[in-house]
Amino acid sequence: MINLKACKNCKSIGDSNKCPRCGGETSREWQGYLVVIDPEKSEIARKMGIHASGRYALRVK
Ligand SMILES: [Zn+2]
Repeated sequence: MINLKACKNCKSIGDSNKCPRCGGETSREWQGYLVVIDPEKSEIARKMGIHASGRYALRVK
């Protein structure tokens, strides 16, 4: 997970400098790891406004 970055906008985790999902800026300064498999059934995903499955950070600096 060392080189992974999280998007400041949608919190999606990836390894590129730009978020592949929304095109937002990514940051190495993130905390928490959340895997969303079924966003409709995940309470955390709903609270965070996540509507697609994938890997997310809980907090991005
Ligand atoms: Zn994004």
